[in-house]
Amino acid sequence: MEQFDVAIIGAGVCGANIARKLSQYELDVVLLEKEIDVSLGTSKANSGIVHGGFHDHISTLKARLELQGALMFDRLHEELDFPFERCGILVAALHEDEMHAIEQLYLQGVDNGVIGIEMCSRERMLELEPKLNPDVVGGLYAPSGGILEPYRFVFSLVESAKKNGVRVKTEFEVASARREGDWWRILSTTGQEIQARYVVNSAGLHADTISAAFGAERFEIAPRKGEYYLLDRMSKSKPSRVIFPVPTEVSKGILVIPTVEGTVLIGPTASPAQSKEDFATTRDQLEHILHSARMMVPSISESDVITSFAGLRASYGSDFYIKVSDEAPAFVQVAGIQSPGLTASPAIGDYVKDLLKKAGLRLVEKSEWDPYVHKVPRARDADPYALDGLVAQDPAYGDIVCRCERVSEAEIVAAIRAGHTTLDGIKYYTRAQMGRCQGGFCTYKIIRILMRETGMRFDEVTKRGGDSTVLRGSL
Ligand SMILES: Cc1cc2nc3c(=O)[nH]c(=O)nc-3n(C[C@H](O)[C@H](O)[C@H](O)COP(=O)(O)OP(=O)(O)OC[C@H]3O[C@@H](n4cnc5c(N)ncnc54)[C@H](O)[C@@H]3O)c2cc1C
Repeated sequence: MEQFDVAIIGAGVCGANIARKLSQYELDVVLLEKEIDVSLGTSKANSGIVHGGFHDHISTLKARLELQGALMFDRLHEELDFPFERCGILVAALHEDEMHAIEQLYLQGVDNGVIGIEMCSRERMLELEPKLNPDVVGGLYAPSGGILEPYRFVFSLVESAKKNGVRVKTEFEVASARREGDWWRILSTTGQEIQARYVVNSAGLHADTISAAFGAERFEIAPRKGEYYLLDRMSKSKPSRVIFPVPTEVSKGILVIPTVEGTVLIGPTASPAQSKEDFATTRDQLEHILHSARMMVPSISESDVITSFAGLRASYGSDFYIKVSDEAPAFVQVAGIQSPGLTASPAIGDYVKDLLKKAGLRLVEKSEWDPYVHKVPRARDADPYALDGLVAQDPAYGDIVCRCERVSEAEIVAAIRAGHTTLDGIKYYTRAQMGRCQGGFCTYKIIRILMRETGMRFDEVTKRGGDSTVLRGSL
């Protein structure tokens, strides 16, 4: 049976950061994921914001990890291959009576040590973002806030962890575990088994089930849904900064987010989900999102909407639940990681490493740890001369497979060779199928490339593994 020093359950942004952090030490580490690919949980469907550090007070664990994590992104961006931009965050007050809340947020930001945070007049707000509603009365500006592509961040972290020795086992759904001496014996739903001395529970929405399976603390994760609408990159309403309304007790509100790849995201809502698989979007919520987003950016048009999706918050308590278990030995909980979990995730990696050390894990730094991953050149980022150079090296750069997002065959092949062999995996790695036509023109070309590169039959190609096949019958 395979034995590991540490088994991390769940390859979302938390598990991926923890795995990469542990890859710096002389350890055998395995990352276990139930899905066919990494980053198919909450980490793929969120706002993609690196938060500004002013929404929660420094006395909470989530605020401390958010502030620390946010500072780590410039270095991560240099080392890894994911789009990231510090475009800044605005909180817009549309009524005089909201200015009190703006002042509270500002003071909290100052207390938290947020660099460059500023209270703004109406004129300053419109100077920072001319697309804002001219009725804005003032607001807050946090220049350090930013945007990133969350799935590319996770893919890149996992690639880096793998490069430095971490084993990744996808389609390993942890079903049960038992203690044998100093080891955990972990069983999957399909009968695979491994042993590990330490276990990290970063299973997101299912962290409660995993905790119970290890005889650790009993708690319940309640899924809370956030619906979004994605606007075409041609939309005239694209702001240059993330725009928040004044938050309420329960939510940060409906945002207008310029994505790092040029589209615009509006949302998310915040309502209880029917189940942990309830990703439905509804017309009612679309009306609500459009109305709220237009309050801030009036030029948003329904005709710019190209798709909708939902993400589920793993809601438990009001703070992150990260601790060494009091009930189960050598078991670390990383649960209840709601927003700002993406922002905090690099700091969560460091924090969990320290918890493991306190729990007895011996950490010896590797003499040779390589923080860099190979950066795949993107056709859409290249000017005509640079593209000529890429085509000279690899003619597959000359074949643009996804016209909406300008993705070349070379990038699709790179995704497949990096292990992303489903239509969704390729979409998140390359952006092919993410544009205005939502894959209408390019899906069949991608299927052909997948068949050629992997030897799969057309009826073996899936959207996201399992029984999500896209074609049946005979050619
Ligand atoms: C609507 C919404 C908007 C958000 N916006 C932001 C934002 O803008 N900025 C920000 O900082 N944060 C944001 N967040 C929060 C952020 O997305 C989450 O905190 C983060 O993605 C949580 O990552 P995770 O790794 O804990 O969970 P996940 O990404 O869900 O990963 C858990 C993984 O565990 C796997 N798993 C589950 N059970 C098992 C099992 N039995 N065996 C093996 N694997 C298993 C799952 O398949 C999954 O891949 C948002 C969240 C939501 C829902």
